Amino acid sequence: MLAQLQQIVQRVNAAGNLREALQIVVERVKAEMGADVCSVYVRDPASSQYVLMATDGLNPAVVGKIRMASDEGIVGLVATRQEAINLANAAEHPSYRHFPETGEEQFSGFLAVPLVHFRQTMGVLVVQQRTRRVFAEDEVAFLITIGAQIAATLSYAAQGNAVSLPTSGVPGPVGLIQGLPGAPGVTIGHIVLPSPLAELGAVADRAAADVAAEIESFRRAVRDTQQELRTAADQLESRLSDEARAIFDVYILILGQDDLVDGVVARIRQGNWAPAALRDTIAEHALVFEQAEDPYLQARAEDIRGIGRRLLLRLMSTVSTTRAYPSDTVLLGEEVSLTRIADVPGGQLKGIVCLRGSVVSHTAVLARGLGIPAVMGLGPRDVRALDGHPIIVDGYRGRVFIDPLPAVVQEYRRLVRHEGRLSAKLADLRRLDATTTDGVRIGLGVNIGLLTDIHVADNLGIDEVGLYRSEFPFMSRETFPLEQDQYETYRKVLAAFAPRPVTMRTLDVGGDKPLPYFPTPEENPFLGWRGIRLTLDRPDIFLPQLRAMLRANVGLANLRIMFPMIGQVDELKAAREAVDRARRELREEGCECPAPSIGAMLEVPSALHAIGALSRYADFFSIGTNDLTQYLLAVDRNNPNVARLYNHLDPAVIRALHDAIRDARRRRRPVSVCGEMAADPGSALLLVAMGLESLSMSASAVLRVKWTLRSFSMGQAKRILARALRMEAADAVRRLLDEELTQAGLGELVLT
Ligand code: PEP
Ligand code: MG
Repeated sequence: MLAQLQQIVQRVNAAGNLREALQIVVERVKAEMGADVCSVYVRDPASSQYVLMATDGLNPAVVGKIRMASDEGIVGLVATRQEAINLANAAEHPSYRHFPETGEEQFSGFLAVPLVHFRQTMGVLVVQQRTRRVFAEDEVAFLITIGAQIAATLSYAAQGNAVSLPTSGVPGPVGLIQGLPGAPGVTIGHIVLPSPLAELGAVADRAAADVAAEIESFRRAVRDTQQELRTAADQLESRLSDEARAIFDVYILILGQDDLVDGVVARIRQGNWAPAALRDTIAEHALVFEQAEDPYLQARAEDIRGIGRRLLLRLMSTVSTTRAYPSDTVLLGEEVSLTRIADVPGGQLKGIVCLRGSVVSHTAVLARGLGIPAVMGLGPRDVRALDGHPIIVDGYRGRVFIDPLPAVVQEYRRLVRHEGRLSAKLADLRRLDATTTDGVRIGLGVNIGLLTDIHVADNLGIDEVGLYRSEFPFMSRETFPLEQDQYETYRKVLAAFAPRPVTMRTLDVGGDKPLPYFPTPEENPFLGWRGIRLTLDRPDIFLPQLRAMLRANVGLANLRIMFPMIGQVDELKAAREAVDRARRELREEGCECPAPSIGAMLEVPSALHAIGALSRYADFFSIGTNDLTQYLLAVDRNNPNVARLYNHLDPAVIRALHDAIRDARRRRRPVSVCGEMAADPGSALLLVAMGLESLSMSASAVLRVKWTLRSFSMGQAKRILARALRMEAADAVRRLLDEELTQAGLGELVLT
């Protein structure tokens, strides 16, 4: 059975569109099961009816015409109950409904399985037999298994591939695709697929008509691409950090390699035209890297292919330079690279959408730095036909609409206008403190990671950098940065904010933040070698980082060092000792460094139960609600399948925070929150009511949270918290917060 299943799935995946895919399913299933009919009904979301979309055995003329409501016929019953039904004679069932035009009276045996995806019935798959018979258990199991595959395909089609939905039969609204929030904001624009033509694999062989001319055009493509990369890097310079530049340098280097250029030229001399010569040379080079034992070298294969695609674009046309970017460009791709972002002329890039990645991906960090809405992690889907299509990007809710209905566009236009008005209104708050109406001043910090963030953050009237994610400069490089490189980066950050404190977190790689040059493949990376666990095991990485931070602090004295993923007291003790050792070594070398405050992140549940002991070694705490939520609820923070379960307003999270903050305050240790929860205005109210004296968040949230805190008294916030603590579900807490914000005149924050 498994082999047949795999064959069917493979053929379905190769189908050009949904209608073709469903026809393959019905034909193959009918053949495999020896049935007389196989049909598939698909839910039309507009009418909630089930429409016959493909059949092998019934009259093909009725495809798209037979429709059943969810309370109609056996198909409707299966769809509603979401359970399979297996009948010896369908006509005897009370729900049986007869459609003479199908020629159905000849059939008795009837097996139907619902096509369910994430609790939603997407359709019903039916097999029928002329004879009276109940289908055997293994046949039922087979149909259910096939059904599970088709349900996912239907769901993807109804979402991302709206354009490939058949235009008759299922009037498909509306590619709503749920992904993950990447950067806040909403945008209405047009899709630009970064390089729609650069498919090396699609290049066909062709005899070179004029060998010399082919060689010359290839050499020109190399020169132009090198120039293009340099220009892109220069354009980015003003908008981006030094770290990003390193990526361009590698590409320019690869292009300068003689063997790559010579390989293509030799193939042209043998008679093939330049694009095919390039195709083969790139494949050959990428293969060498792929077969290398060293994982770092393996990863370089992708760089080689990236360069190949760029060269091909140059050769085939001048698409990448002459392409007219619409004024409302939304870049959509597997991953949207830095170079692609730089290609879009200033002011025309309005949104970024990636099939892969999460809020902590590079691209998302970059988008937040640039203030551009982004949605990540839409999942694998075919987007090749979507260039130029209208799209809405909702970076708050992590969703996009492709080819949206006019009503949806209208609603989002309203949101965009509203956002504009809100930003203008909030701008006045830059110079004001976050003080409650009864005079309690809350410190507001900003979370940063790249040097570019400094300019945005510095303009918001913040008190401190509550979280500097030191892994980001590590992630945008090709090798571990040396101590001196790190020193220079950290110095710029500390100097930019001095005398305000900057809390630098030591390297938090592992989990979903791997370093490209230091892969740590693990079955369960979030529970694995992450954060402090990794750095304590690698003093050769940890000590240079600590030394660089300490040296950068000389003469400024605004550094605080914080350790991620502390789960046990011993880890904190050892990390603290490492700081002492680094200071000692520096002193011996003649560099007297001021002692920084030392803090621990509270994000591993075990740490919440050890606050007393941790307080002996920590000068302050900062709660990482992003990880704490995922570990308390056992919900992967980046997995779209369980995204609806990931909620920092879950009663378990709120109670855990409440207790942790109380414990830390009892030990007289300052405690703050630097996870995304602090950036959520309603949640920020709950947090200050719990006794937090400061909050740290991404720059885009600072003014919204300031507005919120300035609109409530501490007494009000405490009353809201008391009610929230009695609630049983995250939804109820959210409703409470939304109501309170609305009543206080902050309803605009609820909308966005
Ligand atoms: C957190 O876990 O809440 C946090 C701030 O750190 P990160 O998101 O970088 O894991
Ligand atoms: Mg964390």
